[in-house]
Amino acid sequence: MPAEVEQITPLQALERQRRGALLIDVREDDERAGGMPEGAAGIARAALGQRIGELAGLRDRPLLTICATGHRSMLAASALRQLGYAHVASVSGGFRRWQADGLPVAAGAFDADAADRYSRHLLLPEVGAAGQIRLGKARVALIGAGGLGSPAALYLAAAGVGTLTLVDDDKVEKSNLQRQVLHADARIGMLKTESAAISLSGLNPRVRVEVRSERLRAANVEALIRGHDVVIDGADNFPTRYLLDAASRQLGLPLVYGAVHRFTGQVSVFDPRRADSPCYRCLFPEPPAAEDAPNCTQAGVLGVLPGIIGLLQASEAIKLVLGIGNPLVGRLLCIDALAATFRELRLPRDPSCPGCGSTAVFGGYEDVQQICAR
Ligand SMILES: [Zn+2]
Repeated sequence: MPAEVEQITPLQALERQRRGALLIDVREDDERAGGMPEGAAGIARAALGQRIGELAGLRDRPLLTICATGHRSMLAASALRQLGYAHVASVSGGFRRWQADGLPVAAGAFDADAADRYSRHLLLPEVGAAGQIRLGKARVALIGAGGLGSPAALYLAAAGVGTLTLVDDDKVEKSNLQRQVLHADARIGMLKTESAAISLSGLNPRVRVEVRSERLRAANVEALIRGHDVVIDGADNFPTRYLLDAASRQLGLPLVYGAVHRFTGQVSVFDPRRADSPCYRCLFPEPPAAEDAPNCTQAGVLGVLPGIIGLLQASEAIKLVLGIGNPLVGRLLCIDALAATFRELRLPRDPSCPGCGSTAVFGGYEDVQQICAR
C-alpha cells in the first residue's frame, strides 16, 4: 500500500504548498510544539481520520503529509487515499530534512525549551499543548511557603504554572527544614518567600514568582488573592482559614484547603463558583474555643505528611486550572500516615452555614485571634 504513495522532497513540497497544496504535519502534539513547517496544519496521525473532515472542501485539494523522518507520513498519506483523497504525497526525510534544507519553519506553541521541559504533559491528551498553555497563563496564589506550601510550590513550578504568588512573612528556621523542602540549610534566617523564589527559579526559570513578604490579614486578604485563578491555603492556621474562606467567596475563587496534625492530614476543595460546593465554614462554622484548639507552636508533625497533603493540594490546583478530572468538592479526604489509609468523607453544603448559607451575612473581614491551647 505505501508503495502507491508518491514521495517528494521537502523543496518540492514547499513549491506545491505555494501552488495551493495543504501540508499536514502528522507528528504528535508534543513533537509539533517545538515548531513545524510554515503554513502546515498540525493533526496527529491517529486523529487524522477524525479531523481531516474539519478541513472541508479538501477532496480536490492536493494534500501533503510530513512527519519526523518520513515513515509515519507515508502511512498517513496511504490512509488519506483510502479515505478517498486522490492527490496525496508524503514528504521523504520529514521535518528533519525540511529543517536541514533550511526551509521556513513556524514557531510551535512552545519554544524548544518548553517543548522539551513539558513533553510528559504534552503526551497526555488531558493536558496536551492547549492544557500546557493554560497552565502557563495561570496565576496561583500560595498562602504560606512552609510545610504545605513547599511541595505544592515546587510541583506547581515544575508543572509550568505561569505565575506563582507566594505570601509569607516568616523567616527560615532550622526546625523548618525537617519538612519545608523549598528551603535550605544555607538560607536559615532568610525570608521564606525569597528562599522559595531561589529554589523555584532554579527548578524552572520560566515560572514567574511574585513575592509578598507579608502576613495575610483582614486588611490585605482581598488585594493579595485577587486576580488569581486558584488559591492554595498552605498556612495551616485558623486565622488564615477564616480569612481565605471569606475572601474566596467574595471574589469567587476556588480554594484548596489542607491541614496536618501529627500523623494525619486532610484536603478538600471549596469552589464558590459551584452552587453545590460547601465552604470551609460548612466544615468548621466557627473558630475553635481556646480549650479545644491544638497547641500550635509545639504540635509535632511527621515531616513527610505535609509533603503528601501539599502535593494533593497541588494536584487539585492543576486540575482546577485545566478543568479536568473530579475535584475534591463536597469531599473531605482524610489521610492517616500511621495506618496508611485514605478515607473520604462526604462534605455536603450546609444550608445554615454562617459563611455560605442562605441567611449568611458578610460583615467584612475579621482577624480571628490565633488560638492555641498553650
Ligand atoms: Zn458554607
